[in-house]
This record gives sequence, structure tokens and C-alpha cells, in this order.
Amino acid sequence: MVEIFATEKVKKYYAQFKSFVEEELIPVELELLSSSWEKTESVLNTKRQKAKDLGLWAPHLPEEKGGMGLAMMEFAQVSELLARSPFGHYSVNAQAPDIGNMELMEKHASSAIHQQFLNPLERGEIRSCFSMTEPDFAGSNPVNMGTTAVLDGDDYVINGHKWFTTAADGAEFAVVMAVTNPDASAYARASMIIVPTSTSGFELVRNIPIMGDEGGGYNSHAEIRYNNCRVPKSNMIGHEGHGFALAQERLGPGRIHHCMRWIGICERAFDLMCQRASTRVLSQGKTLAYQQTIQNWIAESRVQIDAARYMVLHTADKMDKLGAKAVKAEISGIKFYVANIMMEVLDRSIQVHGALGITDDTILSFWYRHERGARIYDGPDEVHKKSMAKQILSNYTA
Ligand SMILES: Cc1cc2nc3c(=O)[nH]c(=O)nc-3n(C[C@H](O)[C@H](O)[C@H](O)COP(=O)(O)OP(=O)(O)OC[C@H]3O[C@@H](n4cnc5c(N)ncnc54)[C@H](O)[C@@H]3O)c2cc1C
Repeated sequence: MVEIFATEKVKKYYAQFKSFVEEELIPVELELLSSSWEKTESVLNTKRQKAKDLGLWAPHLPEEKGGMGLAMMEFAQVSELLARSPFGHYSVNAQAPDIGNMELMEKHASSAIHQQFLNPLERGEIRSCFSMTEPDFAGSNPVNMGTTAVLDGDDYVINGHKWFTTAADGAEFAVVMAVTNPDASAYARASMIIVPTSTSGFELVRNIPIMGDEGGGYNSHAEIRYNNCRVPKSNMIGHEGHGFALAQERLGPGRIHHCMRWIGICERAFDLMCQRASTRVLSQGKTLAYQQTIQNWIAESRVQIDAARYMVLHTADKMDKLGAKAVKAEISGIKFYVANIMMEVLDRSIQVHGALGITDDTILSFWYRHERGARIYDGPDEVHKKSMAKQILSNYTA
């Protein structure tokens, strides 16, 4: 907890979240990661009930929606604790991509959509996914998109090929980005439409293996074909042609959510590194911790994590006060900085563990496989650096 950012609510809940993760999740995480999703889900359902009973459910949602009503900067601090286990966010229904879909639908969906999709999502009864990226087009510039939604009477008929739709396996519905206005300008061509996964023509082709691990259920990324999927036009979120504006709005807070989570992963990897360095005996009476290289890694990691935390909390605080647009440059900065230091800290921790580091006997290898994507999703490093530099340089033009 960072004292200057610790509100009354953060102080009240911090210890509770910490012990929930340490006592309920960390002891079972390795077993759950090597089990089928069905088994994992049934254990996690008991954890979700426990979180509800403890009043730790949905920290991001307003209290009238059954959540804890935390501001972004408060959630940032709780999120770091949750991220110390891969199942933390899921256990309190604050996992991506559902959290982004909740925020989006809360603001822009009709009351009928709230009734049918959002409310059960917020209660944790169903899951969702977000389907924008396509294998045949560069996701870094998603205005180029092959998926179409054509109005036919009162329905949209959707055709397209998507991939990396995270958590589609077992989701109740997908929020699909599709071209509805092909003749409009680039950023006004697409819309967001809800497609229930039970819709005829929804084809989950496969869960894509990520560095050898195809996962399952919530822990997976699917390739999907939408083959003449017919849905009522009332399933649109917001207005026709507003898809990219909504995607932009969804991604701002989403990137802060990811950064907070990555800091939690860094802290856990850091703890493991220090524990291993302090206990692994290299020669009589001397552990790894006596080696200067290891000391350098520990000091460098500590400084990087602390710097990252202050940057993220500062961005979250500014976003709470001034809105997402005011922190566009900061969000780009934390997105690439935190993703990179996370990979550095994980790599150092693995190295300190020696051969053990690349086994699945610690949590490090899971994160090393699955978090490499952090430098790619929600905008690759290079795109964020370019965007940030452009904003800075705009202050220097004549
Ligand atoms: C783990 C994971 C989960 C994901 N989950 C989802 C999801 O739930 N829903 C969804 O719709 N998508 C999801 N994605 C997809 C993600 O959004 C895209 O992978 C991302 O937008 C990049 O698109 P691309 O893969 O097509 O890479 P490309 O656009 O082909 O880019 C390839 C590389 O080119 C470089 N590059 C691109 N643009 C520039 C530039 N302007 N300047 C310099 N270099 C550049 C970058 O190094 C980039 O990595 C996920 C991806 C991953 C890895």
C-alpha cells in the first residue's frame, strides 16, 4: 500500500484482499493450472462465493450493482494484490475481458441489454468476450477489418473471421466489432454488436495454443468464425458507426487495469526471487544472495517495480479526476513501460531459480508464457511509443 494514495476504503480492505489471495488462491493455483477448466471452474466458484461472503465482490462496480464502488486509483491498489495469483481477478469477477465489457455496457448499452446480458455478467453468472482482432488484418490498425454486419429487416447478419478472442470458450456472448458502414470514413465504419455464442453460425474453431498451452474456458484465446450469424439489431451497443470510439473508451481504463495487474505479478516474482536467492546454498554458508549479480537484479527490480507503481497510481488518480482523455500519453507510457519491466523481473526471477525456473513447479513459467503477450495486446509497445512521442512533439511544433 502506498500511504499517499491509501484512502479509507483502501486501508479498510487491503489486509482482507491480501489474506484472501494468500490463503485461498496461492495454495491451490498450481494444481488448478494443471487441471481441466471444468475442475478449475468448480473450485473457483467456491472462491467466488467466499469473496462475496467477505464483501470483496466486484471492487470496480458501484455499490448499487453489488460491487464495492472503488475509484480507479483505489482499485489499482487492490488489483495489485489480486494479481499475485492468476485467479485473483476471476475470483472477485474483475477479470478481463469481462470487466471492460461491463464498463462499456454500463455506459452505452440499452436497458434491455442490461437486463439480458449485463446484469447476469455483473452477478458472475455468465462470462463474455471481446472479438475484434482478425488473423488476416493487422490488429495494430484495426480500421482494416473483414468482418461485416449487414442489416436485414430487424436483424444484423454477421460474417467474419476473428482470432485471439480471449475467454470465448464457455462465454455466453461476444461483443463483436464489425463493419456496418463500409462507405463511411475509416473510424466511422464499424459498430459493436452482441452475438450470443448460442447463435446459429457461431463457430469456435479452436483455442489457440500459446507457447504450447491451449488452455481452456476463461484461460484461453479462441479462433472464431461468424457464419451468417443473425442477431436482432437491438443487440448493438451504442450507435451504428461508433465502434471505434467505444473501443477507444474501453481501452483507456483497460490498459490501467492491465498495468496494475502486471505490478502484482512483478511483486510475486520479486518475492520468489528474493526467497530463492536467500535460501539456495552455493557454497558453505553462502547463498545465491551473496553474489553481486543477483544483488544487482534484486535492486534493479525493486526500483523498476516501485517506479512503475507510482506511474500507474498517478495515471489512475489523474484519470479519476480529469477523465480518460487527459491521460492518453500517460496511459501509453505505462502500457509499454510496465509490460517490459514485468518481463525483465520475471526473467530475472526464473534465472535465479535455475532449472526450477522453467518448470511448472513454480508460477513463474506460467506467467512467462502467458504474459509475453502483454507487449502485444491492447497496442504493441511500438504503437504506444509512437503515439506518446507524437503527443509530446505536438507541443514543439511551430
Ligand atoms: C494474449 C493476447 C490476448 C488478446 N486478446 C484479445 C481479445 O480478447 N480480443 C481481441 O479482439 N484481440 C485480442 N488480442 C489481439 C491483440 O489486440 C492484437 O494482437 C494486437 O492488436 C496486435 O495486432 P496483431 O497481432 O495483428 O499484430 P500486427 O498489427 O500485425 O503487428 C505486428 C507487430 O508490428 C509492429 N507494429 C505494428 N504497428 C506498428 C507501428 N505503428 N510502428 C512500429 N511497429 C509497429 C509491432 O511490433 C507489432 O507487434 C490479444 C492478443 C494477445 C497476444
